[in-house]
Amino acid sequence: MEEYDVVVVGGGPAGCMAAKYAAKEGASTLILEEDAEIGEPVQCAGLISKRAIEESEIKNSKSFISCELKGAILHSRSYELRIESPSPDKRAFAIRRSVFDKELAKEAQKEGADIILRSKVESVKKRGKETKLTIMAATANTNANGEKEIVATVVIGADGVKSGVAKMAGLKVAKNFLNCVQIEGEYEIDEAFVEIFVGKTIAPGFFAWVIPIAENIARIGLCIDKRFSSLSNPVPFLKRILSEHPVIAKRYKGSTSNFNAGRIPIPVGAGVGLRGKMRMQKQKTVKIDDGVGVLLVGDAAAQVKPITGGGVYYGMKCGKIAGEIAAEACLEGDMEVLKEYEKRWLKEIGKEIAFGLKIHRLRCIISDEDLDTICHVLSQGDMMQLITNRGDMDYPSFVFRELLKNPSIIKLMAKNIIRYLYAK
Ligand SMILES: Cc1cc2nc3c(=O)[nH]c(=O)nc-3n(C[C@H](O)[C@H](O)[C@H](O)COP(=O)(O)OP(=O)(O)OC[C@H]3O[C@@H](n4cnc5c(N)ncnc54)[C@H](O)[C@@H]3O)c2cc1C
Repeated sequence: MEEYDVVVVGGGPAGCMAAKYAAKEGASTLILEEDAEIGEPVQCAGLISKRAIEESEIKNSKSFISCELKGAILHSRSYELRIESPSPDKRAFAIRRSVFDKELAKEAQKEGADIILRSKVESVKKRGKETKLTIMAATANTNANGEKEIVATVVIGADGVKSGVAKMAGLKVAKNFLNCVQIEGEYEIDEAFVEIFVGKTIAPGFFAWVIPIAENIARIGLCIDKRFSSLSNPVPFLKRILSEHPVIAKRYKGSTSNFNAGRIPIPVGAGVGLRGKMRMQKQKTVKIDDGVGVLLVGDAAAQVKPITGGGVYYGMKCGKIAGEIAAEACLEGDMEVLKEYEKRWLKEIGKEIAFGLKIHRLRCIISDEDLDTICHVLSQGDMMQLITNRGDMDYPSFVFRELLKNPSIIKLMAKNIIRYLYAK
């Protein structure tokens, strides 16, 4: 039977990064991926920051960048707000996730991690002083049922939004999800700006996007929060904007490819901790059981930005921590070390997620008229300057905190306070 210090379930950005760092720290490491190919199928708009590209540590970023974006245009019912990136350092990029993920996997292999594809982890069970993973494997050495057992000291669940590892370990991190859909299609593009469209009939509880990826080709998609939507299926909303939205329908040229649909986890609970500091609550991403342990990372741990739905940057960041800590626990033979993982990742992004959850909740309950008010406030000189200079897609809370101090927004909040407090 094969034995590893660390077995990572899932070969997405979080899993590859966790494996890379576990192997780098000296732990014998294996990634088990159910699909036949790393990075496929893609369920992502592929919009990431320069910081995220640096975090990936991939040298040849040209291999996966489709388009460098100069800024963003925000469309509400009555406003069109153009926000230009002040410097190349602040630019976002549209990437090819399939290539990006493969590069991350190669980096993990370079550090010594093994990867087995076409291997779906069916169960994670503790037996004695070890954890046995049963996988349905398309590889040799399986039993009559096509199953194989692998032994691990630490299992890292990087198996995405539906995380089976989380369920098997009894760690629940998300109760609610955004339902998302996206196509690639011909679209008239004037400039390399990402466009965001907000409004209850466009994408209730979230937003729609158009992301240029090549000359006159864009990714067009949206997410909805079904708790605040008349329909839980996002497809009719996409069909509607493609055929009826005054901006999108005019520029969308009809041909469609690469349809993809997926979910984004909304982390559970956020609250105010000691000294009024915002912090995450109820988040459990570590399980220790008599000499073995389980960690969750990436979407499996709901490590996503609630305001934008982006999870690639946080997944990689937390993957590094998970890998390092898992290796340390194995090499020291002390599973108590695993507790450090949750402390460290919450310290890095816990407050940002907690604050983001509050903004998400607010956006879900306000009217299109309120969204116009927000756009109006954002369009004013000082706010515009603040967004341009301090706006940050990975850490958006700074700008939102400033926005919440504006008298018009305070009035808007006061008007909506009851609905906000009683929102699901
Ligand atoms: C429509 C859409 C658009 C998005 N756009 C963006 C964006 O623009 N920018 C951004 O930052 N984020 C975006 N996201 C979120 C982003 O895709 C995720 O946050 C990110 O992929 C999470 O990485 P991960 O490694 O945690 O999980 P994943 O990338 O989901 O990888 C999990 C892996 O685990 C494997 N797996 C699952 N179960 C098992 C099992 N039992 N055994 C073995 N393998 C298993 C899966 O096959 C998969 O390869 C978007 C999401 C959606 C749905």
